[in-house]
Amino acid sequence: MVSTTSEIADLRARYRAERDRRIRPGGGGQYRQTTGEFGYYAKDPYTERVEREPVTDRVEATVVGGGFGGLLTGARLRQAGVQDIRMVDEAGDFGGTWYWNRYPGIHCDIEATVYMPLLEEVGYVPKWRYAPGEEIRQHAVAIAKRFDLYQHALFHTKVVDLRWDDDAAEWTVTTDRGDVFRSRFVVLSSGLLTQAKLPGIPGVETFRGHTFHTSRWDYGYTGGDQNGGLHRLADKRVAVVGTGATAVQVVPHVGRDAKHLYVFQRTPSTVDVRDNRPTDPALLDGQRPGWQRERMDNFLTIVSGGHADVDLIGDRWTATANLQRMFLSGTRSELTEEQLELADLATMNGIRARVDEVVTDPAVAALLKPWYRYMCKRPTFSDEYLQTFNRPNVTLVDTADHGGITRMTETAVVVGDDEYEVDCVVFATGFEVGISGILSGTLQVHGRGGQNIFDHWAHGFRTLHGFFSHGFPNLFQLGPVHNANAVNFVHILHEQAIHIGAMVGAALERGARRIEPSREAEDAWAATIDRCAHDSFRFQSECTPGYYNNEGDPLPMSFSFGPGPIAFHQLLRTWRTDGGMEQVLWNE
Ligand code: NDP
Repeated sequence: MVSTTSEIADLRARYRAERDRRIRPGGGGQYRQTTGEFGYYAKDPYTERVEREPVTDRVEATVVGGGFGGLLTGARLRQAGVQDIRMVDEAGDFGGTWYWNRYPGIHCDIEATVYMPLLEEVGYVPKWRYAPGEEIRQHAVAIAKRFDLYQHALFHTKVVDLRWDDDAAEWTVTTDRGDVFRSRFVVLSSGLLTQAKLPGIPGVETFRGHTFHTSRWDYGYTGGDQNGGLHRLADKRVAVVGTGATAVQVVPHVGRDAKHLYVFQRTPSTVDVRDNRPTDPALLDGQRPGWQRERMDNFLTIVSGGHADVDLIGDRWTATANLQRMFLSGTRSELTEEQLELADLATMNGIRARVDEVVTDPAVAALLKPWYRYMCKRPTFSDEYLQTFNRPNVTLVDTADHGGITRMTETAVVVGDDEYEVDCVVFATGFEVGISGILSGTLQVHGRGGQNIFDHWAHGFRTLHGFFSHGFPNLFQLGPVHNANAVNFVHILHEQAIHIGAMVGAALERGARRIEPSREAEDAWAATIDRCAHDSFRFQSECTPGYYNNEGDPLPMSFSFGPGPIAFHQLLRTWRTDGGMEQVLWNE
């Protein structure tokens, strides 16, 4: 247990030094997009693209994105009485991140009873405490079927342009498949971490072996499935690049099945205990309706700083709630800064001690220890990852001193002067951070008078509650901007879908043709966000680089509602019942 002032000072200095040697010039610019000459990395390996005639009809609502955000919105729109709902996704089916990510070992590390939405409505009980990816994907499909969302769905289709027609009070939606159709309402829910990214390693294009990104796992090459059994790797030397939350789940399987595995690490993850097990049948026996809501609320309350008499989930997320609050929700802890730092050190010391307990070679153990504060990077959980480095066929290659992999040749991955000959390179290098395609420019949105939403946001986001903007009627978006954030982001999406469903339902009920915030409401909300935005800048700027802190160059403010999700959801409920709705419904 760390307690003395000098021990704390030493650790702070160590954290700073480890951070400094990882700061890279170029920040996010160090990565390559999976487009153009690297577009084949983004190709759908799971569903064949089928040619079809362009669609030119009219629907009541279009939902862009078939992950949980889109599905939950589709379900709530259906319950609000919307008849024709068109779901659109670039993937070949529903599931969002669970459609794309099918790598061996994939699981969700948030407990399934709070992560998997609409369990009671769909009548499903998760088999495992932490669900495998395929179970979650199938649940997404079940939600789509339960709420009849396949009916007008367009898959392998990307919405590229939205244009508001003020006379008709509806949107013209254009896609990359030549579709041009009309829609009264449009909801954007295309996710935050969707575009796979590749490291900008010199020579990556010259490598002649096999390569793919974890979000497009090539089972044709590896054999096996999400449960493992990668039998075709038995005679292969495989490189896994990256050691984030994805790699922590992938590495045990590749280590078990490949002839040799090289893990190229730049920054080690925190790897805490997983302790997965089948769902206890007694857990849900005789539960009253509303049990899932109760568990979700309990989890969100605890991890975002509220008070709960009991901890219904009782896992490593709730045990480290104090450390997450400041960073994710913005809610303040009842602990002082100093107490928080001590709690952080105790957690991190536990994680580092576990590395020593599990990894037999002390030199390898030293490399696997993370030296930063707990929430600097996405925490991970595994009871197999660290153990994999005890295998004789697994080599950890630490690249921190070289800022990552130095270069690639036709046959090898090179770090400094050392060349590692491999047959296959698996990029577990994560995703670009984006908002519904708008910020990356892949979706053009033209509101009233042809105004581009990008211009409307040129000097900062302008929305009411994060959902919609003045001049862009009947257009809603999901996401954390001007809204809420939490580790169980599906819970946030759930509340967003309820809110959008309620607004569209009110419009239908009252015959309103437009829903749109006034300029004044938008100004007032921007001022609220500015006033109470939580400042995690200092925390972030002391962190090791990663996508959480814009690769070591953190933004000065969070864009989410500072008092946190519990307060925000209450604010929305009050707004809905206390006349807020009347101010955004327009009939002319
Ligand atoms: P991450 O962005 O978290 O990790 C990318 C990894 O690639 C890092 O270890 C990074 O190192 C490394 N890397 C990047 N460039 C290089 C390079 N040039 N040389 C060597 N290494 C390099 O991506 P993940 O796919 O692991 O995770 C993304 C997110 O997906 C998670 O944060 C989480 O939100 C979600 N996820 C959730 C899961 C769940 O159970 N709910 C499971 C898996 C993922 P460095 O750290 O130094 O930048």
